[in-house]
Amino acid sequence: MAEKSKKPKATNIPYVSKMYKVSGGKLERSTKSCPKCGQGTFMANHKNRSTCGKCGYMEKK
Ligand SMILES: [Zn+2]
Repeated sequence: MAEKSKKPKATNIPYVSKMYKVSGGKLERSTKSCPKCGQGTFMANHKNRSTCGKCGYMEKK
């Protein structure tokens, strides 16, 4: 029997595919990581800049 509490895996895919792109079987990060917070923190992409939601760091493109 399937577990009721578990969310379908498919709902996670659109979110993940924003952060990563798969090319040639390899998983590549499509977003930058914050230089202040480290590799685990992704920066939000804007038109002409990237910002870190954690520390507020902003980087122009
Ligand atoms: Zn940061």
